[in-house]
Amino acid sequence: MTFKELGISSAIIKALKENGIEEPTSIQEKSIPFLLNQGTDFIGQAQTGTGKTAAFGLPLLQLVNPKSPQPQALILSPTRELGQQIQKQLFRFTKYYHKIFCEAVYGGASLDQQINNLKRPTQIVVATPGRLLDLVDRNAIDLSYVKTVVMDEADEMLSMGFKEDLSKILRLTTHKKATWLFSATFPEGIKEIVKKHMAKDAHRIE
Ligand code: AMP
Repeated sequence: MTFKELGISSAIIKALKENGIEEPTSIQEKSIPFLLNQGTDFIGQAQTGTGKTAAFGLPLLQLVNPKSPQPQALILSPTRELGQQIQKQLFRFTKYYHKIFCEAVYGGASLDQQINNLKRPTQIVVATPGRLLDLVDRNAIDLSYVKTVVMDEADEMLSMGFKEDLSKILRLTTHKKATWLFSATFPEGIKEIVKKHMAKDAHRIE
């Protein structure tokens, strides 16, 4: 399969090539066509290094409306490092595509700075769960336009004690159309989140 056959825009494919990404990995082949049809929920069992960031990131870039300044996609990440890596990859992929702004927010950095940054147009927000809720409490982010919520490395977020925060965020994003969950392992806590917050007919891939 090629990225073109999977439904990826030629402007994005050009940037992928420049980054040494020529052929889709297995997880990208299995998830991209499904995620581009933003209908139902999605559960992907995937380790890091498999290309999972592009697997969910490329569909997100094509689903958000660049003309709307509101956050339409939320990517939850366990750490600042992972969040920044996701942001960096998405930035690279859009070199020849529409201007899509992706802001990363995380704990341990200035809250005021992040509040200011979120005043600019931002279609995609990458966030650690605790900091996102702090920003919600300060009315610094409007979640009512969020259509897609992605949980990346969900098992890591759980081991870091973010289970309640995740549940809260999933409850607050009342206008979402789809929830995508990526995790290397599926301990009881993840199963609970899936059961409580995701559609019964969620599409699953390994
Ligand atoms: P990830 O699993 O998303 O952390 O990606 C790991 C690394 O693989 C990143 O540096 C990506 O840029 C790279 N990558 C993602 N997809 C592909 C691909 N289809 N071919 C080659 N490298 C890729």
